[in-house]
Amino acid sequence: MSKKITVSLEVFQEVPKYAEPKPTTVTVQINPLEAWPNCLRVALLHLAEENAMFGDYTTFEEFKRQMETLRPFEQMASDWPDQLDKHGDPWKIVAYCTAGPKAVVDEPPYSSCPRCGTFLWGKPSGLNKPLLLDQYNHDPTPVFCMKCGQRFKYDGPELAYAAVANSKKWSERIKRELGATQPKLATVD
Ligand SMILES: [Zn+2]
Repeated sequence: MSKKITVSLEVFQEVPKYAEPKPTTVTVQINPLEAWPNCLRVALLHLAEENAMFGDYTTFEEFKRQMETLRPFEQMASDWPDQLDKHGDPWKIVAYCTAGPKAVVDEPPYSSCPRCGTFLWGKPSGLNKPLLLDQYNHDPTPVFCMKCGQRFKYDGPELAYAAVANSKKWSERIKRELGATQPKLATVD
């Protein structure tokens, strides 16, 4: 199972008037079920999205080629420090990519990444809770954040939550809610 992650970066070179604008996207294929080395790749892409600005397409296309052909992340960090960190510090880039696992924030299905705040099972809005519950049920144990590459902490087989005190309470609740929204054949008379 693989998933495509695409980001658009800024390139400032002017193209002739009426010419087609050149593409500025970088896309990598990752496996969301395996942290190594996929979360490193996602983290690099996120840093590029936050920091990278290119003065010309030739340089951008070289960066794109290296990212898309999965050049080792530490080589990317040492060769492109200014595109990946606002102070151009390769050590910070490596530290960001290899950060230790952290517990996720808030109860499912509204949990979010402890580093970038991205929602694990979709953004809550209005009445979309059944949809979020469905996403949660489909993938209750994500390995890392698909936006910033942060690895998630596990307690044994269970995803670790920062709201530990209430975890028993909400795990009961969510079982009830999942049962209510998705009756199994065995429970339907
Ligand atoms: Zn994140």
